[in-house]
Amino acid sequence: MAAEMLQFHEMGLDDRLLKAVADLGWSQPTLIQEKAIPLALEGKDILARARTGSGKTAAYAIPVIQRILASKQCVREQDVRALVLVPTKELGQQVQIMMRQLTSYCSRDVRVADISGKADVSTQRPILMEKPDVVVGTPSRVLAHLNAQNLVLHSCLEMMVVDEADLLFSFGFEADLKNLLCHLPKIYQSFLMSATFSEEVQALKELLLHNPVILKLQGSQLPDSSQLQQYTIKCEEEDKFLLIYTLLKLQLVRGKTLMFVGAMDRSYRLKLFLEQFGIPACVLNSELPIQSRCHIITQFNQGFYDIIIATDEQSLASSQTTSGKKKKKSKEKGGKAKDKEYGVSRGVDFQSVSNVINFDFPTNVESYIHRVGRTARADNPGTALSFISHTEMDLLSQVEEALSGDSADPVLKPYEFKMDEIEGFRYRCRDAMRAVTKQAVREARLKEIKQELLNSEKLKTYFEDNPRDLQLLRHDKDLHPAVIKPHLKNIPDYLIPETLKGVVNPLSSKRRRRMKFKPGGVVQSSFKKNVRGKNPLKSFRYTGRKDKTGKADPS
Ligand code: AMP
Repeated sequence: MAAEMLQFHEMGLDDRLLKAVADLGWSQPTLIQEKAIPLALEGKDILARARTGSGKTAAYAIPVIQRILASKQCVREQDVRALVLVPTKELGQQVQIMMRQLTSYCSRDVRVADISGKADVSTQRPILMEKPDVVVGTPSRVLAHLNAQNLVLHSCLEMMVVDEADLLFSFGFEADLKNLLCHLPKIYQSFLMSATFSEEVQALKELLLHNPVILKLQGSQLPDSSQLQQYTIKCEEEDKFLLIYTLLKLQLVRGKTLMFVGAMDRSYRLKLFLEQFGIPACVLNSELPIQSRCHIITQFNQGFYDIIIATDEQSLASSQTTSGKKKKKSKEKGGKAKDKEYGVSRGVDFQSVSNVINFDFPTNVESYIHRVGRTARADNPGTALSFISHTEMDLLSQVEEALSGDSADPVLKPYEFKMDEIEGFRYRCRDAMRAVTKQAVREARLKEIKQELLNSEKLKTYFEDNPRDLQLLRHDKDLHPAVIKPHLKNIPDYLIPETLKGVVNPLSSKRRRRMKFKPGGVVQSSFKKNVRGKNPLKSFRYTGRKDKTGKADPS
């Protein structure tokens, strides 16, 4: 720890806030918190570029809460004092959770309401009538309430936060945001948090901020290679399935894993493919009801699932608009209406994600950064592995260029894997892929939506009264429209490449699970001789010893 680093207790914060911070187990502020909190407490407007996962939510939430606590000492009247604008419902929920955690010792004095998630504007009216101190919402939802006069801000608002400002634009909230500003008072303190400083963010800065302090904390928008290892491997469509099967079945990918695909149908295709081999995974996309989406994320964070297959739809939409093509209507062929305010790769705090796998490469640099930013959050390590087809090499160069800056070393390293060594698995993969027909994918998608609509109804009502049962509701169950061949679940020993036999033993996976053998990370195959020692992830050798935290001891 640097000697001069400012600590939370040196920032003049209310004791109740300090206690909440201690309960969260935060021993010291992150860089952005250290810089932004004191400036915000001085009343400065702030424009901060902080990479995702840097602790930026608390960087604005702490001063917002502190200022509300302070003003409550003199003014007793209850009013909405702070507005937090977010681009997605998921992020709205997450901000609310963080704020509630931070106000756990002063929840009577500082009330927080998230209005981004619920479907109906009129049902939210009573919440706003109580004038919560902090309102969190998407611009369109906030504007709807302002227009309906459920929310009045022009006389009372003291602080306004725009979180993930760059995304508000790519999500098409620009007009709502501008209209919303007419309802605000002339003077209030503003915070603008953004992963990138795009032209639009600069324009918003002019509109919102007065003489702001600009914090550009990280040169790079992702952690460096000591924390985040980024790999790429060239492979075409069939090989992608072959490789993912091998990585998961042979446990070369370990720990919680977020896989991104480029379209909704592909997420079901991949889920059904993995189902054939007894590998459970949750699908997460904008078609699912918001309650189910939030429940999936919560359960993933609690360790219920190892694999989420997510569709990064907004990046597709934004890349289509930026490339000048007509924006795709929010209905996919044969599909249901998608949710405009869905965003999985953006801002959502998936916790302890060991690996991000780009099964389909993202369509632009920004999307790569947001996806990969889901791992290696706070000071946790993480690995990103991207499958690249030959048509995507240009995109790869763009990402490489954006990330490497002045450094001559490539940030994305080739993943050492000899595909020809796993040829023996190809037949099984083809077998599985044959079962995953278009019809099976369509059925799975419909079945899942139906199932999740039911779940979502239950989530709304039943579970409020029976919170314990909430844990029993799972979202990674087999969908079963494709014929399952039981023999595919196991891998006969003779199929495992000789070079991998020392690294994996899939037949003993049950025993491993009992041993909680989950160090996390993507192991590079040991096809190369003496790979140990080059990469901390591949240098892992299981010895059966465990440290005090229960983790296996890498030695
Ligand atoms: P954010 O960038 O706000 O999405 O935060 C990313 C993660 O960092 C969240 O899981 C926070 O709980 C965590 N976090 C925020 N501040 C700290 C801190 N001072 N120390 C440790 N973890 C933190």
